[in-house]
Amino acid sequence: MADQKLGALRDRLDEVDQKVVEALAERMKVVAEVASLKSSPQAPLRDMGREEELLARVAQLGRSAGLDGFFVAELYKKVLEHSLRTQQEALVNQDNPERAAQEQVVVAFQGTHGAYSHLAAIRHFSARNVELVCKGYNTFRQMLEAVQAGGADYAMLPIENTTAGSINDAYDLLARMELALVGEEIQPVDHCLVSLGPMPLHEVKRIFSHPQALAQCTEFLGGLADCKVEAFTDTAMAVRRVRDEQDPTQAAVASAEAAKRFGLHILKRGIANQKANYTRFVVAAAKPIAVDARIPTKTSLIFATRHEDGALVRCINVLAEHHLNMTKLESRPRPGTPWEYLFYVDFEGNVADPQVVAALRALAASTSLLKVLGSYPARTVAKAKPAQPKRAEISVVASPAPASQKAPDDDVLAALEKKPYRLASRVGRAEDSKITVGNVVIGGDRPVVIAGPCSVESREQLMAAARAVKEQGADILRGGCFKPRTSPYSFQGLGFEGLDILAEVGAAVGLPIVTEVLHPSDVEAVARKADILQIGARNMQNFALLKEVGKVDRPVMLKRGMMASIDEWLAAAEYILARGNQQVFLCERGIRTFETATRNTLDLSAVPVVRERTHLPIIVDPAHACGTWRWITPMSRAALAAGAHGIMVEVHPKPEEALSDGPQALRPERFAQLMEAISQS
Ligand code: PEP
Ligand code: MN
Repeated sequence: MADQKLGALRDRLDEVDQKVVEALAERMKVVAEVASLKSSPQAPLRDMGREEELLARVAQLGRSAGLDGFFVAELYKKVLEHSLRTQQEALVNQDNPERAAQEQVVVAFQGTHGAYSHLAAIRHFSARNVELVCKGYNTFRQMLEAVQAGGADYAMLPIENTTAGSINDAYDLLARMELALVGEEIQPVDHCLVSLGPMPLHEVKRIFSHPQALAQCTEFLGGLADCKVEAFTDTAMAVRRVRDEQDPTQAAVASAEAAKRFGLHILKRGIANQKANYTRFVVAAAKPIAVDARIPTKTSLIFATRHEDGALVRCINVLAEHHLNMTKLESRPRPGTPWEYLFYVDFEGNVADPQVVAALRALAASTSLLKVLGSYPARTVAKAKPAQPKRAEISVVASPAPASQKAPDDDVLAALEKKPYRLASRVGRAEDSKITVGNVVIGGDRPVVIAGPCSVESREQLMAAARAVKEQGADILRGGCFKPRTSPYSFQGLGFEGLDILAEVGAAVGLPIVTEVLHPSDVEAVARKADILQIGARNMQNFALLKEVGKVDRPVMLKRGMMASIDEWLAAAEYILARGNQQVFLCERGIRTFETATRNTLDLSAVPVVRERTHLPIIVDPAHACGTWRWITPMSRAALAAGAHGIMVEVHPKPEEALSDGPQALRPERFAQLMEAISQS
């Protein structure tokens, strides 16, 4: 009976799936018609505003239909990305008849099937609607020679990795060989530990992988006792070896796809030192392609400077003078001529653009060698990135003119000269400092919203909070992993385990993450996973900790100590700046006064004072000041009106069950109301 019922339900599911796929196909047909209208070179390819509105609208539609709005928006991002790629492919084919005629493409890559290069090839050519034949080669040279000799149409050449840096061999081969670049691809590299089956980590005794992959996982591998790590030809072959040798104490570092391909088990995911681990590939072909002017395009070239003073600066100035944004500059020794260099440059621009033609002409005059590798659709520039659901603008109705627009007058400056801080002072830097974290700018005109639970308690709790805040338009996800609790018997946080959860959830919902760091010795490890380091109120004058966060290249959010004056706070910021890290922003979170109705007294007058004395951005945390969720909305509005660059609040799916700061946590509906209240209607 139950079997019959299940069978009937499955049949209904099959019907629904068929309808979903048919609807998608119908949508793609309409997209193709829209694209044909856009074949006139004046019609813009992309309307970002429309995409943002569409994402917000489908999320709303989803909510009305009883679905999770975040989930619907994520699905639609994929749909939009695919239709954009398809439109771009159609345009490139229009301009390149030979390419359009290809029904099958042979793509060369280094390694074996299942290696990251193979995944990159599949990713790159999937929108081309051609039969894809991938051929693995032992070396970069062999695969590039195959393209030159006509044995392959394209080669996927890895050129840089966000953890390990530039791949020198690839650059040197581009200089020597006659090849054109016709594309680029970004491949996420998510290393996993792959074994024959489930087992405790400490029983792994031998690990194989490609040296590049091992170099990207040194932290994790270093933590395994009694385990030998050995370099092997490539990641996928390492998995094959583990399978073939059938020794349960052996494991490999490789992609989840490689594990699946060889039927092995993923013992642990995400073992790379840095969570944002990507490899950029360039696609090499025998001949260059023409790229429609409306597609965001990059051009790559190689040059050698003349033996003249200031030669390199002159070359770079040529690009600046022609308003071409350089995205990469790399130097390599010039073969056969010691102490001379070849420079590799990528810039946003298209060789068909008159501006670029003029720049290349000027560049030729200032160089002793100039080789243009080609123009190709860009994947890394902002214009090529997917849209985000449109968030209502936060109103800053009563905000005063920023201090930066009215330079402090002379007596204010004279008083500032005597303060115990210099780098933090407006005296040294008049303009407001802005801090960029991914797509988020802290300290710009648009206020930022940081939201999430006080503590990371579990993956489920954090995921529920993260989806809710992302859906409502928060910019940054917070979550404490190391908690500075007044009582040693209170929940102290999940530590590094919590940080892994925070990093994973942040990546899953697409939000940068901030977490507090308590110990100087933890700073480096926390900085590897967190986008922003928080220094809590209780640690504002922990000078050893301030010096340590001053050494890393991560933005720091410095909360005000509950007994600290504004000048003591700025002097604490100075400790971080003085060590080299200039990415500091402040967070007012309430100070101790005689008042006991609120947990602390939110000192909003600190906002204009801070903005007069320092160029560092300042945000306000009304939650730790109020101690209850009930006054958070009015105090958030007041903070923004006073000129704060943003707010930070605590959000928990079930505040009554929170392990810390439950009373001040907003449940998701209340966070939505807060966002509504601070937004322009
Ligand atoms: C927190 O942000 O959860 C926190 C501990 O804040 P504070 O350091 O301001 O008390
Ligand atoms: Mn808290």
